[in-house]
Amino acid sequence: MTQQKLNIGFIGLGVMGTPMAGHLLKAGHQLFVHVRSKVPELIANSSATLCTSAQGVAERADVIFTMLPDTPDVEHVLFGERGVSAGLKPGKVVVDMSSISPLDTKKFAAKINGLGCDYLDAPVSGGEVGAKNATLSIMVGGPEAVFERVKALFQLMGKNITLVGANGDGQTAKVANQIIVALNIEAVAEALVFAAKAGADPARVRQALMGGFASSRVLEVHGERMLNRSFDPGFRIALHQKDLSLALSAARELGVSLPNTSTTQQLFNSCAAAGGAAWDHSGMVKALEKMANFEIGPKTT
Ligand code: NAD
Repeated sequence: MTQQKLNIGFIGLGVMGTPMAGHLLKAGHQLFVHVRSKVPELIANSSATLCTSAQGVAERADVIFTMLPDTPDVEHVLFGERGVSAGLKPGKVVVDMSSISPLDTKKFAAKINGLGCDYLDAPVSGGEVGAKNATLSIMVGGPEAVFERVKALFQLMGKNITLVGANGDGQTAKVANQIIVALNIEAVAEALVFAAKAGADPARVRQALMGGFASSRVLEVHGERMLNRSFDPGFRIALHQKDLSLALSAARELGVSLPNTSTTQQLFNSCAAAGGAAWDHSGMVKALEKMANFEIGPKTT
């Protein structure tokens, strides 16, 4: 699948999917898309073909990518009326890059395999910036031979591309990723609230910490958002709540305790209750500020 130009399907042209599909187009592949609402400008002004259903996409494309919000959305697009499965023929590949339930992913893969087709789960990390710059980390679950067939397409969208294991394991890696990111946001937010309340300039504190052991991408990117008060997504709190729900429900089934994942989920819940479900996840700082009855100031340096 490396050199030849392919017929590729892409369903889920949102914050992430639009730039990702753009990279596939730029490489010269023919794109078939289906949208629920408006076609994004980048795609509307391209050679991409608009199909009236997900089935129509699957009929025309050899590899079909999905980048949808949640598990029910993927289920609907794959198996709902006029869905992808209705348009598949043996030999085609379905690649779900959404962040969804690992358990349901295994079921979806089995159903697609039952139609003589292959399935990869390939959720990503790196956010909108990573999607635009084609530097996403891609965590893949599925058979190695299928991974090798699709790898060249992943390389158009990402940099750190890892076959984690069998179907579902890519999604499990993504859930682990989201636990780390949420707890990291919480730590950065707590530290900045603490520093500002203690009278230090939180921007200078962040600057001082950037070179040391407390440094992280979250301190860099989300820390700056907290200081600038820029909470437009980015990554919506509602999506991170979905990811932590996956972690917490799996933890119950597995008999694993995730105490701090629970706490950060409560902070996201508090933001959502304040009307912030669509804030960027760095907005978690607002829940902590409410608890401290204190807001960190805007960035000064
Ligand atoms: P988004 O809401 O911006 O995009 C989802 C798109 O899917 C929307 O355009 C929506 O119209 C479309 N869609 C939904 N149902 C559809 C249907 N039935 N048919 C056709 N299109 C349909 O979400 P996003 O931020 O791009 O995230 C997508 C996935 O990637 C999520 O699972 C999210 O958790 C994950 N993710 C997001 C980020 C981020 O920073 N935004 C980072 C990593 C992973």
